[in-house]
Amino acid sequence: MAYDIIVVGNGPAGLSAAVQAKARGKKVLVVGGAPSDIQLAKAGLVRNYLGMPDLSGAEMMERFRSHAREMGAELRTGRVLGVMPLGEFFLVSIGSEVEEAGAVVLATGVSYGAKLPGEEQFLGRGVSYCATCDGMLYRNKDIVVVGRSAQAPEEANYLQKIGCRVTYVSNGPRPAELSGEIPYRTAARLEVVGGQTVTALKADGEEIPCAGLFLLRAAASPVDLVPGLAADGPYVQVDRNMATSIPGLFAAGDCVGQPLQISKAVGEGMIAGHRASEYVDQHKKG
Ligand SMILES: Cc1cc2nc3c(=O)[nH]c(=O)nc-3n(C[C@H](O)[C@H](O)[C@H](O)COP(=O)(O)OP(=O)(O)OC[C@H]3O[C@@H](n4cnc5c(N)ncnc54)[C@H](O)[C@@H]3O)c2cc1C
Repeated sequence: MAYDIIVVGNGPAGLSAAVQAKARGKKVLVVGGAPSDIQLAKAGLVRNYLGMPDLSGAEMMERFRSHAREMGAELRTGRVLGVMPLGEFFLVSIGSEVEEAGAVVLATGVSYGAKLPGEEQFLGRGVSYCATCDGMLYRNKDIVVVGRSAQAPEEANYLQKIGCRVTYVSNGPRPAELSGEIPYRTAARLEVVGGQTVTALKADGEEIPCAGLFLLRAAASPVDLVPGLAADGPYVQVDRNMATSIPGLFAAGDCVGQPLQISKAVGEGMIAGHRASEYVDQHKKG
């Protein structure tokens, strides 16, 4: 077997799984996008990670990567196109290559869906996907919440409670859960507008001035990667051991569900790496 464990995804969950598996003596390959493509690298200061309140997203990712590398994990840049469970082992297609592993950890994060014009440009400079992470930065400021998920109204209420002046924009009727104190606008065509940072959301041609824009979407399903993998809504279904519905396949981090935060991803990655290592030990031949 070329690898004991292949980890799909090089964010906090995947690197945590790799560190744990290396600590348990496993041969580990981590496959993921270029470091500059990692969403967390676009974050400014990450204030809610225990013991490291002064690091930017990019600095934190560099530390996570170095740690995994120093532990002996192989980090490869590439895109996994499919994971094929074959009973005793897995075949993992990475671009035009195929690798074998005894167990696989899925840590692909979430896809944030079709992007709005200007969204990528202002990500981390006014555009946020996480109310809990970034809400405090916008206290006493005008913000817009673009609600595209069932939980978005609750998140908007939370932002209002901590002192943000919220306008809620969506393309359907006003959600019943949304606080009566929050102004609501219906719009279908949206565009992020700004200079150095976000200054407004253009909604059906009309600008709504704001310092921050929260794009709260449902996650896209990562289950397309593995045939027959059970889903829990848009997320991968797992148990408390981070085991999926397929023996030997584990999952961790944003791809298994809310809250979409680093600490949770790292904790779940640790469990997935530990359980995947045990799985390999139990199923090793000879
Ligand atoms: C701008 C921004 C600011 C944030 N700020 C905070 C914050 O302050 N505090 C906080 O707790 N959280 C914050 N978050 C959320 C945090 O980044 C995520 O919760 C965390 O990164 C999830 O880790 P993960 O490993 O599950 O997924 P990710 O970090 O998304 O990593 C998944 C990786 O897998 C790769 N991948 C996906 N599919 C494949 C494939 N098929 N083949 C190979 N590679 C693949 C992706 O390219 C990606 O690099 C922020 C997010 C953003 C975007």
